[in-house]
Amino acid sequence: MRTIYLDYAATTPCDQRVFNEMAPYFCDTFGNPNSLHAFGIAALEGLDAARIRVKNLIRSKFEETIFTSGATESNRISIIRTMRSLSKSGKNHFMTLKTEHKSVLDCADYLKRNGCDITLLNVQKDGLLDLNYLAESIKDTTGLLSVCFVNNETGVLQNIKKIAEVCHSKNVLLHADATQAFGKIPIDVNLLDVDFMSASGHKIYGPKGVGVLYFKSSNKKLIRVPGANQEVEFGIRAGTVPVALCVGCGKAAEIAMSEQNDNLNRYKKFREKFIKKITSELDEIYVNGSSEHNYPGIVNMSFRGCEGEALMKEASGIAVSSGSACTSNKLTISHVLDAMNIPADIAQSSLRITFGKPTSESDVDVAAAELIKAAKKLRAMSPVWDIIMSGLDVDKVFVDIGCRN
Ligand code: PMP
Repeated sequence: MRTIYLDYAATTPCDQRVFNEMAPYFCDTFGNPNSLHAFGIAALEGLDAARIRVKNLIRSKFEETIFTSGATESNRISIIRTMRSLSKSGKNHFMTLKTEHKSVLDCADYLKRNGCDITLLNVQKDGLLDLNYLAESIKDTTGLLSVCFVNNETGVLQNIKKIAEVCHSKNVLLHADATQAFGKIPIDVNLLDVDFMSASGHKIYGPKGVGVLYFKSSNKKLIRVPGANQEVEFGIRAGTVPVALCVGCGKAAEIAMSEQNDNLNRYKKFREKFIKKITSELDEIYVNGSSEHNYPGIVNMSFRGCEGEALMKEASGIAVSSGSACTSNKLTISHVLDAMNIPADIAQSSLRITFGKPTSESDVDVAAAELIKAAKKLRAMSPVWDIIMSGLDVDKVFVDIGCRN
């Protein structure tokens, strides 16, 4: 029996049209785009065309759009280089949310170890950032705020435009980690007024190993690569550009733009159907994150009384994730759900189900049926479920019987 893949927020398969577009750039049009001869010029043409496709998707300018090795690198360039530059003029306070992707939290950690002042902002129970709280948290020394546009674990969609207004009214720059938003929802960097934005190719049916960084021209001086000889990508990176990967990312961006509405509409229907099926058969189901402000392709659901990892193993006909893919080999409560103040036993029973282009309506039905069956089986064996059903406070019982302090 085939396993149904429902982990498209972790990565996506390469679209055959993307693969076909990339193929000639490995063996035929293999030149270095920095070379001045015909081979170099042909490669540069491919690179330029790819950049145009990406800039069309996010409505940026050509010279404000570069390729990187992935969103992790785009995040690191935006955050670490910007803060290094701003710190020189006393703006050494960096802010981000507690619910960010690890690649951003790692940057905060690095900056802290290197003398920056760091604030990890709380979110509300629905995962959204409160704008008044944001405004109050900004100091005279705040240089940059980094916010995830669509959260990779919950799909919660932050109001980036409003967040940018608050930041800019207080002379703070804004970086948006748009890895889970790029190509999936409409993005216009001018309307959003972000200063930096990160994205990735492999979340939109492009190849792995290529990402995008958008920056406003006025901020370019903050992120230029320090002292490199082999400058590429408008002086933001150094080394030889992987043209084939960039071409793939460009094609993926073009396809994403043309198919965005259809995909969004399908995922909205899938989300509704999936939640309805599960909640009609099972009690104590929680959908984590804002029900109003979300990207419908990501559903984060808790099956109280079932441990998330156990549920994943039991429902072996589907490939989903518990917590995010980057942390799922650790049996810890998701830092995202924890920051949303979701009780530990509910957070521990969460799964992330994400839909993608190959997902069919019958996949959604099969996945819901598998999870219902698995949850019923696990609950029948679970002492925690008995405690929940008896109406007792699980956390208190755990303390009483000495399982938790
Ligand atoms: N930010 C977010 C929100 C992500 O979901 C991911 C991928 N899990 C990344 C950053 C890192 O992306 P990449 O794999 O392209 O480095």
